[in-house]
Amino acid sequence: MAVPPLTSSGVVGAAGRVAEPVELRTGDLRLAGRPVPVTSPARVYVCGITPYDVTHLGHAATFVWADVLGAVLRLSGAEVVSSRNVTDVDDVLTRAADARGRHYDEFALSQEFAFEQDMRALGVRPPTHAPRARHHIPHVQQLAAALLRADRAYVREGYVLFRAGDVAARAGLDPDRARQLSAEFGDTPDGDPADALREDPSDVPVWRPSGERDPAWPSPWGWGRPGWHAECAAMATATLGHGVDVLVGGADLAFPHHAHQAAMAEAAAGIAPFARAQVHVGAVHQDGAKMAKSTGNLTLVSDLLGRATGPVLRLLVLDRPWGRPWEFRPGLLGEAQARLDALFSAAGRPSSSPAAARAVTDRLLDDLDVPGALDVAVAEGGDAARLLVRVLALG
Ligand code: ZN
Repeated sequence: MAVPPLTSSGVVGAAGRVAEPVELRTGDLRLAGRPVPVTSPARVYVCGITPYDVTHLGHAATFVWADVLGAVLRLSGAEVVSSRNVTDVDDVLTRAADARGRHYDEFALSQEFAFEQDMRALGVRPPTHAPRARHHIPHVQQLAAALLRADRAYVREGYVLFRAGDVAARAGLDPDRARQLSAEFGDTPDGDPADALREDPSDVPVWRPSGERDPAWPSPWGWGRPGWHAECAAMATATLGHGVDVLVGGADLAFPHHAHQAAMAEAAAGIAPFARAQVHVGAVHQDGAKMAKSTGNLTLVSDLLGRATGPVLRLLVLDRPWGRPWEFRPGLLGEAQARLDALFSAAGRPSSSPAAARAVTDRLLDDLDVPGALDVAVAEGGDAARLLVRVLALG
C-alpha cells in the first residue's frame, strides 16, 4: 500500500489509521573509520574558495566529494543543510585585486562567477547557504566579544588575539610543526606586527587592524578586518548553528584552519565538539608536487572540461578513497571514461535483486567507498547500477 504523506495534525482514532506504518530510510554512516550516526537535518559545512583565481582540479575534488557526502546523507534518510563559504576578505585576494587595479569585492564576484560555472559543469549541487565573509563582519565581532568574555582572547593594539592553548596538541602536532604550518598559511607571516603582541606564539587573530589598502570595518577595537579562522567560525555558526555534523575541506585545511575554527566556535559557545566528524579530502598532485596556485603547478577544471565531460571528471575524482592524496596524469581521463561506460552499460541491464542495491548503499555508507560501490554496481547491473548513477550524479 502506498504510504500517504504524514499529516500535520496526526490521526485521532483507530478508524483513521488505514495506512501501513511508515518505513524510514535510515543508515549508519562511517567516516574515517568511525561511526557517525545520522540525524536529520544533517548540517555540513564546506570550506569554500578564496575567489582570487581560477579553480584547479585539487579544489574541485573537495567540492565533488562534499557533494557526494550530501547525496549519501540523503540516501540514508537525512535532510541535508549545507553551507559553503566564500572567503572574500583575505589578504591574498586583496593583493590580487590590487595588482589588477580592481576593488576586492567586485574582483571576488567575477572569480566566484567562474567558480560557479565550473561547479555547474561538474554537477555539484548549490549549497543551501553560501555565506560571504564580508556579510558576516558583525558575527565575527560577536565571536570576538564572546571569546573576550570567556577569557579566551585578549586585546592588543587593535588586535583581538585568540589564546589557542592546546589546539596544536589536540591536532596531534608538536609545537615546531604547528608553527611551520601556521606560517605557511599566513597565521604568523615573517615580520607580522602581531608577533610582538602575542602572549604566546601560537595565538591567532580573531580581529586585526587594517592597513591603508585593506578593507576595514569599524569595531570596538578600531578599524579592522577578521582573521581567517574566525571568519569561518562565524559563518558556520551564523548559517548552521553552534555545531555541524560534518566539516569538509581539503587536507591542508585540517591545521591550522579547521583546528582553530573549531576551537574558537567551541570556546565562544561552550558547546563541543564543533564538528561531529571531519572529511579532509586528499590533495591532488601533479608532476610529483601538490597542485597549487602559488607554484603554478596545476590543471584547471575549465581546461579539463574541454577534454572530458563533467561525469567523467566526477568519476576521476571519486573512484578512489577520499582521504588519500593522488597524482593526476592525463591517462586517468581515459580510465575514468572506461569505468563510466561500464557503469552505464550495467545500468542498462534488467533489474537486479534488492540485495544488490542494498550492497551499493552499504558500500557508500561505509566511508563513502565509491570504488567498492562501483565494483558491486558493475557486477550486478540493473537497479544497483542505476542507484549509483543517481547518487553520484553521473547521469
Ligand atoms: Zn574555512
